[in-house]
Amino acid sequence: MATSTNLGFPRIGANRELKWAVEAYWAGKVDRRELLRRAAEIRRANWALQRDAGITHVPSNDFSLYDHVLDTSVMVGAIPERYEEPDGTTGLDSYFAMARGRTASPDRPGVAAMEMTKWFDTNYHYIVPEINKGQIFTIRSEKPVDEFREAKALGIHTRPVLLGPVTFLLLSKSADPAFDPLTLLEGLVDVYESVLRQLAAAGADWVQMDEPALGLTLDNRQRSAFGRAYARLVAASPTLKILAAVYFSDLRENTKAALALPTQGLHIDLVRGRGDLENLLPKLRQDMTLSLGLVDGRNVWKTDLAEAVATARKATSALGPDRVLIAPSCSLIHSPVDLDAETGMDAEMKSWMAFAKQKAREIAVVTAAVNGDSSARSELEANAAAVAARRASKRVHDPKVKERSAAVTPEMAERASPYPERRKAQQQALRLPAYPTTTIGSFPQTAEIRKARASRNRGELTAEEYEGFIREEVARSVRFQEKTGLDVLVHGEPERNDMVEYFGEQLKGYASTSNGWVQSYGSRAVKPPIIFGDVSRPAPMTVGWIGYAQSLTNSPVKGMLTGPVTMLQWSFARDDQPRSETCRQLALAIRDEAGDLERAGIRVIQVDEPAIREGLPLRREDWDSYLEWAVECFRIASSGVEDRTQMHTHMCYAAYDDIIDAVAAMDADVISMENSRSDGALLETFKKHPYPNEIGPGVYDIHSPRVVERAEAVALLRRAVEVIPKDRLWVNPDCGLKTRRWEEVEPSLRNMVAAAKEMRRKR
Ligand code: GLN
Ligand code: ZN
Repeated sequence: MATSTNLGFPRIGANRELKWAVEAYWAGKVDRRELLRRAAEIRRANWALQRDAGITHVPSNDFSLYDHVLDTSVMVGAIPERYEEPDGTTGLDSYFAMARGRTASPDRPGVAAMEMTKWFDTNYHYIVPEINKGQIFTIRSEKPVDEFREAKALGIHTRPVLLGPVTFLLLSKSADPAFDPLTLLEGLVDVYESVLRQLAAAGADWVQMDEPALGLTLDNRQRSAFGRAYARLVAASPTLKILAAVYFSDLRENTKAALALPTQGLHIDLVRGRGDLENLLPKLRQDMTLSLGLVDGRNVWKTDLAEAVATARKATSALGPDRVLIAPSCSLIHSPVDLDAETGMDAEMKSWMAFAKQKAREIAVVTAAVNGDSSARSELEANAAAVAARRASKRVHDPKVKERSAAVTPEMAERASPYPERRKAQQQALRLPAYPTTTIGSFPQTAEIRKARASRNRGELTAEEYEGFIREEVARSVRFQEKTGLDVLVHGEPERNDMVEYFGEQLKGYASTSNGWVQSYGSRAVKPPIIFGDVSRPAPMTVGWIGYAQSLTNSPVKGMLTGPVTMLQWSFARDDQPRSETCRQLALAIRDEAGDLERAGIRVIQVDEPAIREGLPLRREDWDSYLEWAVECFRIASSGVEDRTQMHTHMCYAAYDDIIDAVAAMDADVISMENSRSDGALLETFKKHPYPNEIGPGVYDIHSPRVVERAEAVALLRRAVEVIPKDRLWVNPDCGLKTRRWEEVEPSLRNMVAAAKEMRRKR
């Protein structure tokens, strides 16, 4: 019989219980026991839910108080010395200090958090392991076996999940950039052997070892590390069956290495790697079980169960049902928890979707069908009807949008004139001084703003009262900017809860959820809006507020839009058409908005694209085709305006070396980027690849609560003018100011403007 399995379940809790628990612990409002009790309650609920849904291999150790990569660092003793407790134990407090730093107290100095970065191409962030030459690994936590036993005591036999040793090392960093972490593999495998022996002794039979790195572009040394590690792990635990799990990618040139793994099982992602099944089936070793990642763990759509069953049957007839596991493509931590909680969503829309809980049931239904068990018949029928209805729905398909998108011409992705001519027209229209100053868009989202929004959502404030409040905020920030002497003003974005959600709420083809949270990092979750249909813009989205701000001042006010690539990247997207097509529809909607802003007298418009870099595919060889459509979409969005309208874009992060040509090809008149913390990396990039238009390398580190000194900003600008011609240099912060407080923002911007003035005097 085929077996229903899961790779991981959201750990945040149905109502973000984990967030409330750890934040209460951090605030000193609950003690360690209470935190651990609440965490255990989330695990219990998750295990019971999956068992009740019909999952046979229910995962354990997929839970984490903060991050499973950090848990792994702790498990193997890769704990940087600065976090060690004086008595050599690792308690909760050093765990959280690694995750988020610790401020100084009278009895001990503060310490910064470890580095955090995105987990593959997801929006989940992990804590980067720190590994150094001569590192000794030892078991420092028994979390995997503890949680296995905990489930066992509840009557649930689980499949423990471990992050595999090769992926762990490949994700780690070292103080010495030349150091190769794989040289430590043998010592690390020693520790994993002990962990596996503990799990075997506790009664585990299958253990899932996640090795998503086997889906990346690897060199031969890296690729061969998998075989070496697993030969030892398999030999060390003869009673265990190891499932090596690869996800987020197809296997391509790593197919041979995957097939050669000595493990008892291999998991593949059939959402990202559709073609892998046909490839593997004839070549799979006789004693190897195949886990089929059929249910998309990274999106919100119902699986086409009939299709999944048909795919699974190919595997069962080739391998025999006993060698087949039915699974999600990857862990379900990238899906929202429970669609049933969306009581505000209309029934039709809901009938198209499945969140983690519903996906667990889908896996069980596919398994039942494959096994010839008729109990799931009615669910299969309902699924077929829902999938067909979604495909045909008028809400999804808007012929006008499709026609318009098909009719896009190359000229629509071109400004009327090349940059040097536009520049002249813009200089005339704007008459800005040298070293013009501006900000990235948002001003502090104060407690009052959040309170007003919450009151409006609860109906305690009327729409007019709320609007009046926002008007006053906008007016105040315009007055502040004029007084401070900024050259290009912004309205401050007080009306926006989130730069994607705000537009998603106003575009046709978008839906939002009330509880569709997905963990982003630690206690932080995001609630991405959902693109379900052809996207269009029923009415202007920003003209009211930006026009109002412009009416208050003679200085130019910059209209703030979120770019098409970022809208796509930070939403759940359609799975029934290429992402490039969805992006193009978004681009056309934003293009219309830019046109309306221009007609309303707005002379500067910024189209933010902070997510363009993180949208890069995992494999290098796929980059070019992505960048081609991503850049084209940005250009469609930003090229519908007159030469004299100055188009800005903004990106976070300073690491652009590898995509700088694409960034230049976006052809924005002005680009602002993070720079102040990059230690010159951004400028190095521009030294090697001169940027043809204007640039504002950030001079104000908005991630820190520190006030920027004028001298600091001047020093950064002096470095910048060595690389960027001074008549093309802008002065601005690294990013939006919404997470900061006015107490820091006011003096920092004053100092930033003073720095620009100093630069002007010393011309
Ligand atoms: N305009 C946005 C803001 O200032 C940009 C945010 C971002 O780059 N992530 O908040
Ligand atoms: Zn930014």
